[in-house]
Amino acid sequence: MTDVRLRFYNTMSRRLEGFEPIEPGRVRMYTCGPTVYDFAHIGNLRSFLFEDILRRALKFFGYDVTQVMNLTDIDDKTIREAKAAGLGIREYTDRYIEAFFEDLDTLRVERAEHYPRATDYIPQMVELVKRLEAAGHAYRSDGSIYYSISTFAEYGKLSGVRPEANLTGARVDSEEYEKEDARDFVLWKKTGEGEPSWDVEIGPGRPGWHLECSAMSIDLLGEEFDIHTGGTDNIFPHHENEIAQSEGATGRTFAHYWLHAEHLIVEGEKMAKSKGNFFTLRDLIDKGHDAVVIRYLLISVPYRQKLNFTFDGLHAAEQALERIRNTLRRLDHTPAAERSGELESAVVEEFQHEFRSALGDDLNTARALGALHTLLRQVNTALDGDGISEAARGQLRQAINEADSVLGIMPEAEGGASGDDEIQSLVDERTAARETRDFARADEIRDQLSEMGVVVEDTPHGAVWHKKN
Ligand code: AMP
Ligand code: ZN
Repeated sequence: MTDVRLRFYNTMSRRLEGFEPIEPGRVRMYTCGPTVYDFAHIGNLRSFLFEDILRRALKFFGYDVTQVMNLTDIDDKTIREAKAAGLGIREYTDRYIEAFFEDLDTLRVERAEHYPRATDYIPQMVELVKRLEAAGHAYRSDGSIYYSISTFAEYGKLSGVRPEANLTGARVDSEEYEKEDARDFVLWKKTGEGEPSWDVEIGPGRPGWHLECSAMSIDLLGEEFDIHTGGTDNIFPHHENEIAQSEGATGRTFAHYWLHAEHLIVEGEKMAKSKGNFFTLRDLIDKGHDAVVIRYLLISVPYRQKLNFTFDGLHAAEQALERIRNTLRRLDHTPAAERSGELESAVVEEFQHEFRSALGDDLNTARALGALHTLLRQVNTALDGDGISEAARGQLRQAINEADSVLGIMPEAEGGASGDDEIQSLVDERTAARETRDFARADEIRDQLSEMGVVVEDTPHGAVWHKKN
């Protein structure tokens, strides 16, 4: 299996590349995090789940991972919303940082090593602006400091958006802007009345959004690191500007691989706060949807394809996950066969190879999940037939657990499948009643289980149960 390599589509080169970290065995990666002015919507969470799969896959392939995800706690939106709520920016954003971590836990997203807040990195940002001024990339105008994109010859190399010669010197103060506006962008911004401001060496003001990611990644990962990620909407202007800032200051290649997640869309349009077509994770949980089903849905489409969110899709994810859970329960509760007739260890090895190849193929999660479903169909067939031996069962469980270290969808990880314990004890009680020929009691329990959506089958290997789909 060692021949399977990890390959990623690099937005910079626009092709698939074999992955080679700068330091053998160790990966440093930077992931653009949320702007903490409100709850994240499930579109944002799709991007964070892609990064979770990336992180887990890197570990699965044996790398040590150092991941940084910034928390943007100062920008036009956070300032506006904090003001409207009558709170200081720190107090206001604290709430949404907490909510963000709750959402990550709900979706079983592994924690990154660092979650720097922009407002804690002002000295590093000031330092970077000074370096850019010294290198001739920055200029002052109307109390703000701007990056002069015509001084960075490679501007546009990531996004393909080249500055138009006739716009040289045209400036843009807003932090998010359209491709037509390849203009000088603000590094350090003059603040308005009542806005948070830092009185620092480069003059009073506050940081522009792009500056924080360059300053924090250089501080925590070094001037040159392996992977930088975000959603496709980050490519321009955010990542293009990060490159101009970082490489303009250091003269080194900022990040070696650029990976971008496609959007979650609703009826053909990007899910976005500004469009009003969004759901938060809390909205869906309040409607009674299971968090792991939401995770399953959001990872089920490879990250470079758009994912169209529908409730039918969510329902299909629920059924797919229930099929997995039913098979695992069957496997757990069916007594072992003397020897495995149908389930050879070659079947498990084939699954392991296919699963690893799928991940190595630019994190093809659809293919990885397909491999899992194929394996579990074979498990069902074997359980219908001669059964599965204890040895084969151990090998299966290990392979499934390894796969789940990336997928994060198995019931074991849910922390106490208490419902399952209750069902199992009822099934055991029914078996005992049948053994003492108390069929009335046995039937009563069967009815009770049926009301709970559980079907019991009496097989040559004893009673096995599954949840109705
Ligand atoms: P924000 O909080 O707006 O800075 O966004 C956080 C992350 O979510 C960024 O990496 C965005 O690229 C990503 N994002 C925003 N909208 C969507 C969407 N509809 N689908 C997937 N990712 C998104
Ligand atoms: Zn960023």
